[in-house]
Amino acid sequence: MADYLISGGTGYIPDDGLSAQQLFSVGDGLTYNDFLILPGFIDFTSDEVDLTSALTKKITLKTPLISSPMDTVTESSMAIAMARFEQGFITDPVVLSPRHTVGDVLEAKVRHGFSGIPITETGKMGSKLVGIVTSRDIDFLSEKDHNKPLEEVRLPVEDLVVAPAGVTLKEANDILQRSKKGKLPIVNDKDELVAIIARTDLKKNRDYPLASKDSRKQLLCGAAIGTREDDKYRLDLLVQSGVDVVVLDSSQGNSVYQINVIHYIKQKYPDLQVVGGNVVTAAQAKNLIDAGVDALRVGMGCGSICITQEVMACGRPQGTSVYKVAEYARRFGVPVIADGGIQTVGHVVKALSLGSSTVMMGSLLAATTEAPGEYFFSDGVRLKKYRGMGSLDAMEKNASSQKRYFSEGDKVKVAQGVSGSVQDKGSIHKFVPYLIAGIQHGCQDIGAKSLSVLRSMMYSGELKFEKRTMSAQVEGGVHGLHSYEKRLY
Ligand code: IMP
Repeated sequence: MADYLISGGTGYIPDDGLSAQQLFSVGDGLTYNDFLILPGFIDFTSDEVDLTSALTKKITLKTPLISSPMDTVTESSMAIAMARFEQGFITDPVVLSPRHTVGDVLEAKVRHGFSGIPITETGKMGSKLVGIVTSRDIDFLSEKDHNKPLEEVRLPVEDLVVAPAGVTLKEANDILQRSKKGKLPIVNDKDELVAIIARTDLKKNRDYPLASKDSRKQLLCGAAIGTREDDKYRLDLLVQSGVDVVVLDSSQGNSVYQINVIHYIKQKYPDLQVVGGNVVTAAQAKNLIDAGVDALRVGMGCGSICITQEVMACGRPQGTSVYKVAEYARRFGVPVIADGGIQTVGHVVKALSLGSSTVMMGSLLAATTEAPGEYFFSDGVRLKKYRGMGSLDAMEKNASSQKRYFSEGDKVKVAQGVSGSVQDKGSIHKFVPYLIAGIQHGCQDIGAKSLSVLRSMMYSGELKFEKRTMSAQVEGGVHGLHSYEKRLY
């Protein structure tokens, strides 16, 4: 960008600001609040900024945002909302046989919340498709008809639009769109059912273009495991359920336990992507990279609920951790997740500008509608509980969180986190678009049209930073007002 200005004709531009290397060469650990990024040149609109970024060596996300594996942040609602739920080929749908009854359809509807169930000879996938039953076939049946076999109410296969196995998702979607039906069964050359696609998912595809999916258009999903013997069982179950990436959840990842587990997983499930961590130094990162991790999770003691630095005397300010580890790991093509300490969308931009490919958030996503737990009121403020996985509260209730802190079996538990509450943030479906737009605006001000451009500007030294004194930090916040309201989006 500087080149452009120079060619504009006014000539010499004095050297201004620090490269990332200069910023972190001094030795003081820096947090996100300790520095700013100097603005660059804008020749594109913010919505053109491409936020595609690597989660692991093999998995790419369309937005660089991940929710923390914590029991007050991520359960299924959060995972689904973060992934922008949408399915491609459904290979294990609910299937019934002609001998099942109308009552069975109603029950399936209650349990799974949909109708439009394919009927095969045996009631299983891989058996001959004989029809489909939709809500239209059963809507007006009375209670006495509940025992009626589906044989009598199904829409026969002759009246169905089906697609042949091997059809691409795009072709299948086109057929589904033209057919105006709710479901499109996919059959092999023996007319046996192999998959279906659903119209509702087509619509979600349109509504959620940023969903991150695998080559079969199924949503990507990650899960955390520990490094103990019984975690191997959890790992098997996760793999059977189609997990794409596992995160080895430890507050200090540079351990013989983690290295052994990485070897074990890489041997048993060579295609499974493994995130190691947490680490904050290149030396820690080296051992996990040598063991074969596909990404590193970076952060120790920077989380909002965290008292690790206070209690264990170990840790590192997060800006420095992210820069040091990312700068080392990039030589091996290992992406970095900046985990913890993200308080604002500006911190996300800073984390990405220091070399991380994605950011992981706990407190920022806690107290959204999709976070686990009920809202409660305190002093008139609507809140949800948020606690560290190393808080006594979590360790007492949750054996896996003890493992994260190597403290299962300890007579005296040493807490590394606190338990508290966070103010209601509304739904992820509004909050995440705000984060995305905010990151795009940040990149625009910097003059980076994509996250890969941002990283290469940083490593080339073109991206300039500046340290913030205490008074600069005061100046950078709202100040001098008698009162104000801070609405963000
Ligand atoms: P936050 O986004 O600043 O709230 O930080 C969330 C991150 O803090 C998580 O992803 C974990 O890496 C880390 N963390 C979770 N529980 C604890 C704890 O009890 N002590 C220290 N760190 C924790």
